[in-house]
Amino acid sequence: MRKKIVAGNWKMNLNKEQSLQLVNDISAGLGNIDENTRVIVSPPFINIPYVVDAEKRNTKVEVAAQNMHFKESGAYTGEVSADMLLSAGIDTVILGHSERREYFNEDANLLTQKVEQALEHKMDVIFCFGEKLEDRQADNHFNVVEYQLKDALFHLKESDWQRIVLAYEPVWAIGTGETASADQAQEMHAFIRNLITDQYDEDVAEEVSILYGGSVKPANAQEIFSKPDVDGGLIGGASLKSQDFLAIINAI
Ligand code: PEP
Repeated sequence: MRKKIVAGNWKMNLNKEQSLQLVNDISAGLGNIDENTRVIVSPPFINIPYVVDAEKRNTKVEVAAQNMHFKESGAYTGEVSADMLLSAGIDTVILGHSERREYFNEDANLLTQKVEQALEHKMDVIFCFGEKLEDRQADNHFNVVEYQLKDALFHLKESDWQRIVLAYEPVWAIGTGETASADQAQEMHAFIRNLITDQYDEDVAEEVSILYGGSVKPANAQEIFSKPDVDGGLIGGASLKSQDFLAIINAI
């Protein structure tokens, strides 16, 4: 049975004290979550060790990284490798976020290398993709999503998919307060699952968790999560407030 996942992307927010406060508040407010559900937070690199350390006392919240370099090590000033993440207790990484694509020019070629590097290190990947507003307005959103997935992921072995989580994030809905409707999310998630069935088989498609991301908040989480092909959410702004994040987790 595929996992339900609520993952918070803290982006470039919160200092050490604020990060500790938030993760402690989330842990304290988290009731019993069933074993098929994963709750994940993703602090900036510098705060990962503090959050990991805080979470050693509470194993219900996992910690992921927001990014990673595609090389093993070397002269890549400012970058962080898979091995460094693993040694800091991180085995899940978010890749392909639209902000990385837009502001740091991350393209399909680079993302393929990052995905491969993560998989070589047996890390889980939360792979983000989604169309821009102009793509949707031009009714080109299915093509864009198909291209993004095929380009970066469809060369992977079937067994690699055990480590892949997909996050459909329409760019027009990220941080804008505008959300895809639950029906729009379901329509795209079903399309994605069909693509995976066509490329691999139904077993792979049925096992992969597909998250929705884009202005999910307590008020809309339940409706979006009620859709059969939506297996949870990648949450930006609302993951920075423990009450909101906990309400979204409770909606899963
Ligand atoms: C995100 O950054 O992945 C995201 C979905 O942000 P927000 O929830 O703020 O739209």
